[in-house]
Amino acid sequence: MSVALDTDEPLGHICDACGSGLPTQGWHVPYQQMGYYNGFTDNLDVLLSEEEPKYWFLCHDCIVKFLTLFPRLGEFLDQGEHPCDAEAPCCSWAWKLAEDGTLLVANADGWVAKSK
Ligand SMILES: [Zn+2]
Ligand SMILES: [Zn+2]
Repeated sequence: MSVALDTDEPLGHICDACGSGLPTQGWHVPYQQMGYYNGFTDNLDVLLSEEEPKYWFLCHDCIVKFLTLFPRLGEFLDQGEHPCDAEAPCCSWAWKLAEDGTLLVANADGWVAKSK
């Protein structure tokens, strides 16, 4: 499974996990189209185009909770998946430009220059 932070979703939705307003960084997950083995969600009507796919909107903080709960899934993401201008990184997947233009990514120590 490949997942990516989606920063282009329109605002105005709420997070389907926590009910808070959706910030600019989050996931728009087509859970009926994620694929499954041996069945978990019934997506036959979606596959037959008889029903529109349903989506989950997940806010930044719920994604961080999800990836913290399942750290192996977090390993699918690269460093520096979404921008963050805060003094300290908002999470392990943030990036920021330093004043000299250096690309910084988050790690356990805070912001560090991204290695090439
Ligand atoms: Zn949320
Ligand atoms: Zn973050």
